[in-house]
Amino acid sequence: MLTIAGIGPGKREGMTEEVLLALAQCDCIVGYTVYTELVRALFPDKEYYATPMTQETERCLWAIGQARAGRDVVVVCGGDGGVYGMAGLVCELLASASCGEDTAADGEWGGLTDSVGLRILPGVTAALSGAAVLGAPLAHDFAVISLSDRLTPWECIERRLQAAAMGDFAICLYNPASKGRPEHLRRACDVLLHSGYVEADRICGAVRNIGREGQEQRIMTLGELRDHPADMFTTVYVGSSRTLRLGKYMVTPRGYRRSS
Ligand code: SAH
Repeated sequence: MLTIAGIGPGKREGMTEEVLLALAQCDCIVGYTVYTELVRALFPDKEYYATPMTQETERCLWAIGQARAGRDVVVVCGGDGGVYGMAGLVCELLASASCGEDTAADGEWGGLTDSVGLRILPGVTAALSGAAVLGAPLAHDFAVISLSDRLTPWECIERRLQAAAMGDFAICLYNPASKGRPEHLRRACDVLLHSGYVEADRICGAVRNIGREGQEQRIMTLGELRDHPADMFTTVYVGSSRTLRLGKYMVTPRGYRRSS
């Protein structure tokens, strides 16, 4: 059995019952070191296989091998496994290992993944857990964009930022910065400011360490967001033209009050 489990932002209360049950029942827990350490505190007696960030493929292949050998394996992902997580990669690896990259026709996927008993259990993704800290910034249409150019060309990220600005979506930004690319958030703010659709006083927010020790949040303008010290444990929100700052809350009204 191979389970991909989204563990939510980190604390036990943020995990679903089915994820906790899968973790309690499995033989082995696999994941990026940050996430396996969060789970280890709850299930100290399990076997762990942790690798650093850039070894996703190797880690998933190991998990697939263990599951094929008959073990009950859980691959843990922060938030949700299908949102910048391992779920897609595991499906791709299962398909290509069984019939070759070029021959994985649509109809074959279900049977292939069943060969290891694949289950994908959802979790609360950072966009949602961080939004709940700020108030309700994503209460109307929104777009989610990752600022990591490790696997996506920066030109593509810029195009998506411009399209979201043109569509007047509230925007949630994942991977706003890291040690290797500290300036990405500022560059993204400048793309939005130069798009012609977003002004410098647009309401924005940032939440760091959601659901973990040291959680902190701030509501600010887009002009201020340019200089905000975001890191890889921060999720960022850029409001739509309707988004308001209501005291300590960031809210994108859905429109109920206008229609009543
Ligand atoms: N699968 C994860 C996202 C992985 S991408 C999910 O669904 O949440 C990594 C990015 O997610 C981080 O750079 C950050 O922007 C965001 N993130 C994940 N967990 C977070 C947390 N606890 N606090 C703040 N941001 C978080």
